[in-house]
Amino acid sequence: MTAVLWLRRDLRLHDLPALLAAHEGGQVLPVFVVDPALLATAGPVRRAHLVAALEDLRESTDRALVVRTGRPEEEVPRLVRESGAGSVHVSRETTPYGRRRDARVAAALGDVPLVATGTPYAVGPGVVRKADGDPYRVFTPFSRAWRDHGSPPPAPPPARLRWRRGVATEELPGADGPPTHAVGEAAARERWAEFLDTDLARYDTARDRPDLDATSQMSVHLKYGTIHPRTMLADVAAHPAGRTEAARRYVTELCWREFYADVLWHHPASAWSDLNDGLRSMAYEDPAGTPAAHVRAWEEGRTGYPFVDAAMRQLRETGWMHNRARMVVASFLVKDLHVWWPHGARHFLAHLADGDLASNNHGWQWVAGTGTDAAPYFRVFNPVSQGERFDPAGDYVRRHVPELAHVPGAAVHQPWRVPDGLAHGYPERIVDHAAERAEALRRYESARAA
Ligand code: FAD
Repeated sequence: MTAVLWLRRDLRLHDLPALLAAHEGGQVLPVFVVDPALLATAGPVRRAHLVAALEDLRESTDRALVVRTGRPEEEVPRLVRESGAGSVHVSRETTPYGRRRDARVAAALGDVPLVATGTPYAVGPGVVRKADGDPYRVFTPFSRAWRDHGSPPPAPPPARLRWRRGVATEELPGADGPPTHAVGEAAARERWAEFLDTDLARYDTARDRPDLDATSQMSVHLKYGTIHPRTMLADVAAHPAGRTEAARRYVTELCWREFYADVLWHHPASAWSDLNDGLRSMAYEDPAGTPAAHVRAWEEGRTGYPFVDAAMRQLRETGWMHNRARMVVASFLVKDLHVWWPHGARHFLAHLADGDLASNNHGWQWVAGTGTDAAPYFRVFNPVSQGERFDPAGDYVRRHVPELAHVPGAAVHQPWRVPDGLAHGYPERIVDHAAERAEALRRYESARAA
């Protein structure tokens, strides 16, 4: 008998419960369906990563991987008919689109079961709940319950896997350029081992410093599922530094990813609208209206605030941005330019290699003060002092903003104060931060009073 293994964002063979379940069903037919509805929203950076991850998977399945393009509810049943498969195996998908799609596919499959085993998370979204069964809305108690719940040890791939062959495949879709990060299961494990060796032990003190490159950059691998978080948690626990504050802090960050997936599971509408009703009457600018030039300057890294511009250029050049910088640029768009967060979230998803609906859109809501556990709206990040604090020697700015390469040290965060600071084409500030902060607070007070 053949069992279809329909892969989506779990492009690996290790620690993949759905593969073990498919193996129980007989010969495994690994399948990826290129869904035009999803591909259209991916943007060139993520498309390049997806294609490279699929190339890697094609090799690790001894070229048994079958690729089809079309609507999954048509393509998956077609593959079942062509192969005579008795079951279709997936990792449970928990995003709003993924849930709707899987319900359509299950219906279209009729008597052939769509079997969901495991999720892309250590603890599946919807599992961790309060004693009364309600979902958590606040991170800290969620994280305590999540740690208490724990997760099983990673499962190795089946010893005697038999791939089903002889089913026609399409070529992989094309990409506009190479991926910005090394892609595939081996690349994920290599990067992970490197991080464990070099940076885990200092993660708690260095993680907030974009100049140091001290975070794991595992977000890109988690995005495509070339590694599972359960594997990472087991490795952290077994590491010599596994009991340190640094390791605890790293696990907390992995838990944020799980928390946001849980929030999205319980509140699918929060993907694109305020989770928290409190600021529904907030006055925002139309990003295509009066401040269009400002929004473009933000997107292109020409706001005149060096820390913001370095971050936005890092995004464009590398497909990734440091977490501290994500918070500061998001605050700048929402609170200095007064633009509603979904505009920024969309821009991020178009350019981030790790673009993930739950982490991205709830990260934006956290900054905008509209999400769970949100930073209060009145906390406005100061782009200059954030730069001085988290890029103390100015190296991050100079790395990404060549027009400021001649400005030494921390002075680079206020080039307008340096005699020839703006001499090499770096722009004037597009807004006055102090004035826009006051404006943001004024809008906040009137939204609260409404
Ligand atoms: P590390 O510091 O090494 O952390 C390890 C892992 O923990 C990360 O890979 C990630 O999976 C998880 N993690 C860390 N911080 C967070 C967090 N705040 N929220 C959720 N998970 C976290 N993360 C994404 O994976 N995709 C996104 O699209 C995304 N968009 C964001 C948008 C905004 C406005 C903000 C403020 C944060 C966003 N994040 C997103 C979260 C975080 O910035 C990235 O996960 C992190 O920068 C990735 O780098 P890293 O792997 O080196 O992180």
